[in-house]
Amino acid sequence: HHVRLTSCRTLAVQTIDHTGDVPGQHGPALAAALRTYWGYDQFRPLQQEAMIAAMEGRDTVVVLPTGGGKSLCYQVPAVCRDGLAIVVSPLISLMKDQVDAARACGIAASFINSTQIPEERRQVFRELHSGKLKLLYIAPERVTQDEFLRQLQETQLSFIAIDEAHCVSMWGHDFRPHYRELHVLREQFPTVAMHAYTATATPRVQEDIARQLGLREPELLVGEFDRPNLTYRVERRGDMLQQIRDILDRHPGESGIIYCITRKDVETYAAALQALGIRARPYHAGLNDDVRHASQDAFIDDEIDIIVATVAFGMGIDKPNVRFVIHTGMPASIENYQQESGRAGRDGLEAECHLFYGNDDVIKWEFMLRDQPDEVRKVSLNSLQLISNFCHSTTCRHRSLVQHFGQDLEADCGSGCDLCMGGRDDVDDPLKTAQMILSSVFRQQQRFGASYTAQVLKGSRDQKILANGHDQLSTYGLLKHETKQLITEWIGQLIQQGYLIKNPEFGQLQLTDAGVLVLKGETTPRLLRPQTTSKAESPKSAEQDAVDPKSWEGVDRPLFEHLRDVRLELARERGVPPYVIFGDAALRDMARKRPTTPDGFLMVNGVGKKKCLDFGERFVEEITRWSLEHALSTDVAPARETAPPPPPRNVTAGARAAFPLFAAGTSIDDVAEQLGRARSTVSGYLVDYLREERVIDASPWVDSVKRQQVEAVIEQVGAGPLKPIYMALNEQIDYETIRVVLACFQNRDAT
Ligand code: ADP
Ligand code: ZN
Repeated sequence: HHVRLTSCRTLAVQTIDHTGDVPGQHGPALAAALRTYWGYDQFRPLQQEAMIAAMEGRDTVVVLPTGGGKSLCYQVPAVCRDGLAIVVSPLISLMKDQVDAARACGIAASFINSTQIPEERRQVFRELHSGKLKLLYIAPERVTQDEFLRQLQETQLSFIAIDEAHCVSMWGHDFRPHYRELHVLREQFPTVAMHAYTATATPRVQEDIARQLGLREPELLVGEFDRPNLTYRVERRGDMLQQIRDILDRHPGESGIIYCITRKDVETYAAALQALGIRARPYHAGLNDDVRHASQDAFIDDEIDIIVATVAFGMGIDKPNVRFVIHTGMPASIENYQQESGRAGRDGLEAECHLFYGNDDVIKWEFMLRDQPDEVRKVSLNSLQLISNFCHSTTCRHRSLVQHFGQDLEADCGSGCDLCMGGRDDVDDPLKTAQMILSSVFRQQQRFGASYTAQVLKGSRDQKILANGHDQLSTYGLLKHETKQLITEWIGQLIQQGYLIKNPEFGQLQLTDAGVLVLKGETTPRLLRPQTTSKAESPKSAEQDAVDPKSWEGVDRPLFEHLRDVRLELARERGVPPYVIFGDAALRDMARKRPTTPDGFLMVNGVGKKKCLDFGERFVEEITRWSLEHALSTDVAPARETAPPPPPRNVTAGARAAFPLFAAGTSIDDVAEQLGRARSTVSGYLVDYLREERVIDASPWVDSVKRQQVEAVIEQVGAGPLKPIYMALNEQIDYETIRVVLACFQNRDAT
C-alpha cells in the first residue's frame, strides 16, 4: 500500500518509506495499546507513523480521509504517554459521544464545554488535578481562556491535539475564528508538541494550518484519499422514487442518508418513504431545532434507518455504520460530494454512494445562488460545472475524485464504480457521433445551449427551432433515433473531455480548439451509452452478491442481526449511541467466530479488555444460545493467523487481460511487449495474478538463484514489509522481483 507524501513549501517534510516498517522503540507499546483498549490488530495506513511522532514529541500535520482513523492517532499515544493530552474539537455535540466511546474502551477521558453545569465542570477539574486523566476534549473558545490556561499550567501535558484543524484556515471549508487563537497554546506551552488532524486535502490548507498554529517543522503525513470501501455509481435521474427503492431493497434495516438539493424535495421524499413504511425522517434548516435534533439523534441511535436531508445535515455526524448515501440531485461541488458521500462507510466496511443527476439540477442551484454576490456566484457556477463534468466523465470515479484533490491511483478501481463495472458501453462510432454534435453547435453559430442542440439533432418540431430556421440545418434530425436525453448526455461528455465549453452564465455551447480537431477527424472523443438491457440484465442483487466483500465472509447474517438488537438494547440502557458499544465490524466478527468463552470473545476484532469485561458475558451468552438453537458451529478459529492478509486490491481489466499469458508461463518482458505496457505495470499485474490464483511457485518469472536468495532473507526478516528484505539483500535485487517472490511465499504460507 503506497502512501504519498505531498511536499509543502513551508513544511519540512520527512520522507518515510511507507512499506509499513517504522523504526523506533514505540511500535510494540502502541500495538499493545491498540490491542488492549480497542481490540484492533492492525494499524491503518499512516496511523503508526502519526502515533510514533506523538510519542517522540514531534509536531505533526496528519491528513487522512474520513474514516481513516484520525482519532486513534492521538488517543493511542495519549494512553501510552505520561500526562494529559488536550484535544481541541469544534463540535460540542460530538464531545460527549467521543468521550463515552473512549471510556467504553477503558480510557480516562473527559470533556469541558458549555453544556455542563458548574458542578460537572468542577468534577472535571478534580479529575484533571488527580493526574489520572489521559484525554481532555475541549472547545477552542474555552481552551484559550486565561483561567483555563492557568489550570493547565499546573498539569503535566503529554501533547496537544487539534481536531478538524482546517477550521483554522480561511481556505478550508469551515473556517472558525476561535481557531485562530490557538497559537497561544504554543506560546503558553512551548515544550509541548502540537498535532493537527484534518481530512482536507489541499496543500494550501495544510500549509496554513502549520503557520497559523505555529507548528515547528511539523512532520506532514498525508494519506491516500481514495476510499476503496465505497462503491460509486452515477446515473441520470429517472423515476427517482423507484430508483431510491431499488437501493433501499439492497439495504434492509441499514442506515443511509438521502441528500436533496431543496427543502421541498426533502419533504416530498421523506413523506413518500414514510408512506411506504420505511423508517425515514426529514432534516433541513427550515425545520425547527427540536425536530432537527430529534431526527439526528434518532438516526445516530439507530432508531430510524434513513435521514432525508439538505446539505445542512452531516456536520458532526460521526456515525460509523452509514451503509449508503444517495444524492437525488447534483451536489454543489466535488468538495461537497466528497464530504457528503464520504459519510458512508466510516467503519471501513463496504458502502454505496449513488449520485443521480438531471437537467434541472443546475437551474435549482442557480436559483438558490441568486442573492449571492457576483464573486461568490462565479465561483459557485464554476464548481457546478466541475461536478457536472464529474457526472459525465468516462474516467473511473475513484480516480476522478482523487485527481480532483491532486492525487492519482495506480490503477482504475476495477469494480468499485459504475464505469469500471461496465454499466455503460462505448458507442460504435464515437468520432462520427461527436462530429454530428459539434458541427450542429457550429452551424447554430455557437449561440445555443445543450438542450436546444439536442433537440435540433433529434429533429424536433419545436417552435423555436422552426423560427430560427434550424430545421434547415444539415445536422437537423441526424440523431433522430437516439433519445434527447442521451444526446444531452453526450454533449455533457464532450464538455467534460474539453471539446466543448459551456458559457457559465447562459449555457451556450462553443467549440474549443480540441473540438475543431474532432471536426477535422484528427482526434476521437470517448462517448458512452447506458448498457443495453440484454447485457445489464443480471439483477442488481446478484451483482451485489457476486462482489460480496470479505467483511461478510463466514458471517452468520441472522446472528449478526440478532447481535445488533442486543447492542441496541445495551445502548439504550446506557444512553449512548450503539456504535459506542461495538461497531458493525466487531459484530460481524462475533457472528463469524461465534465465541462461547471470554477468552474467545477477546479474540474478536474490535473487542478490547474493558469491553470484554463489560459486555463479554452478555454477548457470549447470546451467541451460545443462538448457535445452539440454529445448529451453528462455535469458536471458529480465525482463518488468518499464519499469513498476513494480502492488501485488498481490485484486479483491473488490464491486469485480467494478462492472466492467460501468465497462466501459460509467459515472462514479464514478453507480456510487457505483447500488451505494450511498461515492465513495472506488468509486474504489478503478475502479483495480482499470483495472489488471485494462489500461485506458490515463482520459477517462471524469477530465476532460481535470485529466488533462493530472496526466500532465504524472507525466512530471516519475515514476510512483512519489503524494505527490510530489500536492505538485507544489500539493495541488489529490485523491489519488483522481491514482490513476486514474496507473493508466492505468502501463498505457500497460507495453504
Ligand atoms: P476519522 O476521524 O479519520 O474519520 P475515526 O477515528 O472516527 O476516523 O475512525 C473511524 C472508524 O474506524 C472508527 O470506528 C474506529 O474505531 C475505526 N478504526 C480506527 N482505526 C482502526 C484500526 N487500526 N483498526 C480497525 N478499526 C479502526
Ligand atoms: Zn472505477
